[in-house]
Amino acid sequence: MQIWRLVAHHEQGLAAVEAMKSQGRIAIGWNDIGDLREIAAKDSRAITKAIKGAYPTLKNAHLGGPSLWDFHRSMCPGDLVIISSLNARRCVFRVTGDYFFDEEDQLCEYSHQRAAELTDLSAEQLWHEVGACYADGYNQRWTLVLCGAEETPQEESATYQEGSRHSVTATAIERNPAARAACLTHFGYDCQACGFNFASTYGEHGKHYIHVHHRVELASSDGPVYTDPEKDLIPLCPNCHAMVHRGKDTMSVEALRQLLDENKAS
Ligand SMILES: [Zn+2]
Ligand SMILES: [Zn+2]
Repeated sequence: MQIWRLVAHHEQGLAAVEAMKSQGRIAIGWNDIGDLREIAAKDSRAITKAIKGAYPTLKNAHLGGPSLWDFHRSMCPGDLVIISSLNARRCVFRVTGDYFFDEEDQLCEYSHQRAAELTDLSAEQLWHEVGACYADGYNQRWTLVLCGAEETPQEESATYQEGSRHSVTATAIERNPAARAACLTHFGYDCQACGFNFASTYGEHGKHYIHVHHRVELASSDGPVYTDPEKDLIPLCPNCHAMVHRGKDTMSVEALRQLLDENKAS
């Protein structure tokens, strides 16, 4: 799952956002280059070249090539898209369909489209969770930009890493900003074992602090592991996180909850 930022429209920003909401689609301009599936560009530069050809007087062709390439080739159903207009992050859509091109049925004059549904995720919170930055190699002036740093800060995982048998893969997934963001937008910031919430205890200073634990035992699996942020990942406070990783085998979160209940009762 990836997280993108899409500028809704350069002239009719707010109208475009409303159209996206009511029609369940997201879209990008530069219609005159035609259907990207037919152009069969081999990279983003080829699309930039096509834009220059179709719009000889336009000076922003270099912003369109990479954006259209990603919109067609890199975006996937399930990805989240932060919609920005007039320099504000407005809402978050989830991509539900493949790229299509329709000149008859445009979205706010744009023909390159994908089906997408509005989510109730907060655009600001998602942006914060993904590291409040764009991915390496991306230029924020592009219409469509991939969000997120390669890694979240080290100190967040340091507590439980030390002396634990936590596998390298699980650690990488727990630190993956996109996976983390999707998990936290689903669960929120309460520890899912003991209920601890950093903001409730430490106020503003503790806001948005929590560990994210990868529930799946990865040691036996080979090859890349698909992570479902709502099933495989779960927010835990550092104490509970340390406890599930204590011992030879990782304890399930359910077993830890039971342990907490037993000891509260006695
Ligand atoms: Zn806890
Ligand atoms: Zn963990």
